[in-house]
Amino acid sequence: MATSADPEIVIIGCGIAGIAAAQRLVNAGFHHVRILEATARSGGRIKTERLGNNITEIGASYIHGPSEENPVFRLARDYGLLDPEALTQENQAMDLDERLPWVPNWFSSSGQKLSAEDMKPALEMFDELLEDTFHFRNQGEKPWASVGHFVRSEARQRAAERWANKDESTRKLLLCAISAMLKEECCASAAPTMDEIDLAGYNIYKALTGLDCTFPDGYEGLIQNLMSELPSGLVTYNRPVHCIHWDNTESGDSTVTAECNDGERIAADHVIVTVPLGYLKKHHSTLFSPPLPAHKLNSIQRLGFGTCNKIFVEFESRWWDADCEIIFLVWEDEDDILDQVSNNSWIRKLSAFTVIKRSESHVLCGWIAGHESKYMETLSEQEVRRSVAELIRTFTGNPTITPTRILRSQWFHDPWTCGSYIYPAVGCVVQDLENMMEPLPMKGSQSQPLQVLFAGEATHPYYYSTVHGALLTGWREADRLISHYSSISPD
Ligand SMILES: Cc1cc2nc3c(=O)[nH]c(=O)nc-3n(C[C@H](O)[C@H](O)[C@H](O)COP(=O)(O)OP(=O)(O)OC[C@H]3O[C@@H](n4cnc5c(N)ncnc54)[C@H](O)[C@@H]3O)c2cc1C
Repeated sequence: MATSADPEIVIIGCGIAGIAAAQRLVNAGFHHVRILEATARSGGRIKTERLGNNITEIGASYIHGPSEENPVFRLARDYGLLDPEALTQENQAMDLDERLPWVPNWFSSSGQKLSAEDMKPALEMFDELLEDTFHFRNQGEKPWASVGHFVRSEARQRAAERWANKDESTRKLLLCAISAMLKEECCASAAPTMDEIDLAGYNIYKALTGLDCTFPDGYEGLIQNLMSELPSGLVTYNRPVHCIHWDNTESGDSTVTAECNDGERIAADHVIVTVPLGYLKKHHSTLFSPPLPAHKLNSIQRLGFGTCNKIFVEFESRWWDADCEIIFLVWEDEDDILDQVSNNSWIRKLSAFTVIKRSESHVLCGWIAGHESKYMETLSEQEVRRSVAELIRTFTGNPTITPTRILRSQWFHDPWTCGSYIYPAVGCVVQDLENMMEPLPMKGSQSQPLQVLFAGEATHPYYYSTVHGALLTGWREADRLISHYSSISPD
């Protein structure tokens, strides 16, 4: 048992989970808390940059479900970081199980602007199909192999029944629109293709009420405010941890050691690991000595960690409607409902742009997931810009449209992240997320308890893949230690 009243606590990673853990421990009176961060900055997957004068979020953009229950919303509100509109009761009460109520513009690969009214049946059917996946949430035996298989098969059947009175070309076009939305959904889920998402697992995620909102001056404002409340010098930057030496023997040592890449060994009573699942998948065998228990390893392997990237594109003038919030691109030869393409046509995977509303110029954010997204990362910025220009010229039929500047994310090649966020891959169950958060050594072991604790986005049982999920896991692991010490403290 730990006897130290003020233990040494090392947190690995200075993303929102690591910061949240440190904040709660420091506020509870722990004096020996430090964060070791691999890079030169705080924030991890919260990363605000600029394209000209425009704020662009390379990582997280939205508070998903900004309402009282969401701790990120509460903090952002208290720090004064949100627009008045986001604070209204009406905004907070919006219950959006499905798609955000965004005004769409539709363009087709033959260079036509399509009528939003004509495309509405495709949007409605797609939303209905995703909603219907809810029926499978508790099913062991599922009639379809994945969300992608379900959507494809059911869309074809429902289209044949429901759109029987439409002419053949309209029916085909609506199915092509479902392809575009399926690709967009790959981005929301960070899945390579929706064929890799578990039909029951898809609904493990819980949505909070509230219409998603952004930070007008950038998400990093949240990080700056939180960091300003921590004692200075608490974070050591450019200090990647190479190996965590813990002890699973009965007569074990009472300390755990974080060995850094530069060879320094830092002894602690507890280490809180917040590195992303992508990093764990790649480095677990060297990051833990002795290795992780088998059930934890299996869950690390079973859970998906996908790549979703953004490509911000600036134009001299607007070519979309003034009220447009999202642009869908429909390839007219995709009525077999595709959400995967080959590398040499990677740009086909980019099926949607969101409009950056506050920009001083005209900026869109293109979304791309999957192996096509990883491939995009390997191309030069010039090549990406050329492909985007060609795409937009094809879909608008206007050969003069030219992006002035682009900025893209490259999350897969970020060595400390290795992708974007987790998704429930085929075969995943809630237990996998619970295994992720289990401290080491495991319950029942005779060795020193709570040597290694796990926080971060991938350890939340139902708010995974979000900032609020990650924040809550940091608080959860801090609370675990706080209650451990309050239970053994003499007073
Ligand atoms: C493109 C994209 C868009 C997103 N959009 C949204 C959104 O709109 N809304 C939302 O809620 N969420 C969104 N997310 C998810 C959200 O950003 C994450 O869930 C959250 O920021 C994760 O926080 P974290 O602390 O768990 O991990 P991270 O922020 O990844 O922090 C982990 C830290 O560990 C460090 N690290 C890694 N390895 C080591 C090592 N060996 N030694 C020391 N340090 C190490 C990393 O450098 C990093 O700083 C998005 C993510 C991406 C990538």
